[in-house]
Amino acid sequence: MGFCYFCDLLERKSWNGYFCSTCDELRSITKVYGNERMLDIVQTVCLRDQEQLENKIKNLNKKKSSITTRSKSEDVTST
Ligand SMILES: [Zn+2]
Repeated sequence: MGFCYFCDLLERKSWNGYFCSTCDELRSITKVYGNERMLDIVQTVCLRDQEQLENKIKNLNKKKSSITTRSKSEDVTST
Protein backbone atom coordinates (compact mmCIF):
# COMPACT_ATOMS: atom_id res chain seq x y z
CA MET A 1 0.00 0.00 0.00
CA GLY A 2 2.95 2.30 0.58
CA PHE A 3 4.18 4.44 3.42
CA CYS A 4 2.55 7.46 5.01
CA TYR A 5 3.44 10.74 3.29
CA PHE A 6 3.93 12.48 6.65
CA CYS A 7 5.88 10.12 8.94
CA ASP A 8 7.21 7.80 6.23
CA LEU A 9 7.27 5.02 8.84
CA LEU A 10 3.87 3.35 8.81
CA GLU A 11 1.65 1.93 6.10
CA ARG A 12 -0.98 4.26 4.73
CA LYS A 13 -4.48 3.80 6.12
CA SER A 14 -6.01 3.00 2.74
CA TRP A 15 -4.89 2.54 -0.85
CA ASN A 16 -6.23 5.96 -1.87
CA GLY A 17 -5.17 7.79 1.31
CA TYR A 18 -1.90 9.56 1.95
CA PHE A 19 -1.46 9.06 5.72
CA CYS A 20 -1.27 6.31 8.33
CA SER A 21 -3.95 6.16 11.02
CA THR A 22 -1.70 7.91 13.58
CA CYS A 23 -0.87 10.83 11.30
CA ASP A 24 -4.48 11.00 10.20
CA GLU A 25 -5.45 11.46 13.85
CA LEU A 26 -2.73 14.12 14.23
CA ARG A 27 -4.20 15.92 11.24
CA SER A 28 -7.64 15.86 12.88
CA ILE A 29 -6.23 17.34 16.09
CA THR A 30 -4.33 19.94 14.06
CA LYS A 31 -7.57 20.98 12.41
CA VAL A 32 -9.01 21.67 15.87
CA TYR A 33 -6.04 23.64 17.26
CA GLY A 34 -4.62 25.06 14.06
CA ASN A 35 -1.22 24.27 12.60
CA GLU A 36 0.59 27.19 14.24
CA ARG A 37 -0.73 26.26 17.70
CA MET A 38 0.21 22.60 17.14
CA LEU A 39 3.72 23.58 16.07
CA ASP A 40 4.01 25.81 19.14
CA ILE A 41 2.88 22.94 21.41
CA VAL A 42 5.37 20.51 19.85
CA GLN A 43 8.24 23.01 20.04
CA THR A 44 7.57 24.12 23.62
CA VAL A 45 6.56 20.76 25.12
CA CYS A 46 8.32 18.07 23.10
CA LEU A 47 11.56 19.65 21.93
CA ARG A 48 14.34 20.20 24.47
CA ASP A 49 17.81 21.69 24.02
CA GLN A 50 20.87 20.13 25.67
CA GLU A 51 20.62 22.26 28.83
CA GLN A 52 16.94 21.41 29.28
CA LEU A 53 17.70 17.72 28.80
CA GLU A 54 20.45 17.82 31.43
CA ASN A 55 18.15 19.61 33.89
CA LYS A 56 15.47 16.99 33.28
CA ILE A 57 17.97 14.16 33.88
CA LYS A 58 19.22 15.84 37.10
CA ASN A 59 15.67 16.26 38.39
CA LEU A 60 14.80 12.65 37.59
CA ASN A 61 17.98 11.44 39.31
CA LYS A 62 17.15 13.56 42.39
CA LYS A 63 13.67 12.06 42.53
CA LYS A 64 15.09 8.58 42.04
CA SER A 65 17.67 8.98 44.81
CA SER A 66 15.12 10.47 47.21
CA ILE A 67 12.81 7.52 46.58
CA THR A 68 15.68 5.07 47.10
CA THR A 69 16.81 6.87 50.27
CA ARG A 70 13.27 7.02 51.58
CA SER A 71 12.65 3.34 50.93
CA LYS A 72 15.97 2.42 52.61
CA SER A 73 15.13 4.49 55.69
CA GLU A 74 11.69 2.89 55.79
CA ASP A 75 13.35 -0.52 55.68
CA VAL A 76 15.59 0.39 58.64
CA THR A 77 12.67 1.60 60.73
CA SER A 78 10.54 -1.40 59.91
CA THR A 79 13.13 -3.95 61.13
ZN1 LIG B 1 2.20 8.52 9.44
